[in-house]
Amino acid sequence: MRYLYLSAKEHHMAGIQPTPAEAWKRLKDGNRRFVEGSNEHPNQDTIRRTDLASGQFPFASIFGCGDSRLAAEIIFDLGLGDAFVVRTAGHVLENAALGSLEYAVDEFETPIVMVLGHDSCGAVTAASKSLESGEMPHGFIRNLVQHILPSVMSPKLPENPVVNDMVREHTRQTAIRIIEQSHIISDAVVEGKVAVIGVFYHLKEGKAELVFSSQDLTLPEEKNDAQNPPTQTLPVVVKTPPRVVVAENLD
Ligand SMILES: [Zn+2]
Repeated sequence: MRYLYLSAKEHHMAGIQPTPAEAWKRLKDGNRRFVEGSNEHPNQDTIRRTDLASGQFPFASIFGCGDSRLAAEIIFDLGLGDAFVVRTAGHVLENAALGSLEYAVDEFETPIVMVLGHDSCGAVTAASKSLESGEMPHGFIRNLVQHILPSVMSPKLPENPVVNDMVREHTRQTAIRIIEQSHIISDAVVEGKVAVIGVFYHLKEGKAELVFSSQDLTLPEEKNDAQNPPTQTLPVVVKTPPRVVVAENLD
């Protein structure tokens, strides 16, 4: 894992990224430091800042809720140039967000794409209330709720679900939608270059809990480690929409 700590320029020159499992380990380790209050605040000095001016090579793409308590670089103890972060309220996936994630995977070959949900999410709560009352919110908040409703109505939810059950389901469904809707990302998932994961963040404890992964993220040295049970994975979704074929010479 020595290359995890190369400078951005060296990364570029070497053209290498960590594996998905190594990238998750780095995120997991950073979150553990955050939970324990032992943050290292890596890659936040002037050397790093100067180094990055000529280019970036982030090792993770993170698509999170816009909630102010969910700053990815802080909760995973990261620094400048480490994560390509996209955020919308309730991590609602629309074209610009999906295009941004595709850009990160295509341009920087980020080996991990994380959907980051959190407990007590206001956007998911709004969707749940709309379902109960039958009333939709005004303005473009309505648009957010419309995108979240399938998750709060999911048949996979437990009986009498609470908001946090819905957030877990919405996090999983968002991760699956990324794979289903993006050829660039689903191709990379099938090739094993990228893992798409879903993480549920606990606001009070600061802990990031893995709730979905497109592949096993256990490192070889963790295989027999009781502290690191194998990650729970779901079958990789390869059901992608038909590719757009550009017709030529139509006349
Ligand atoms: Zn939220």
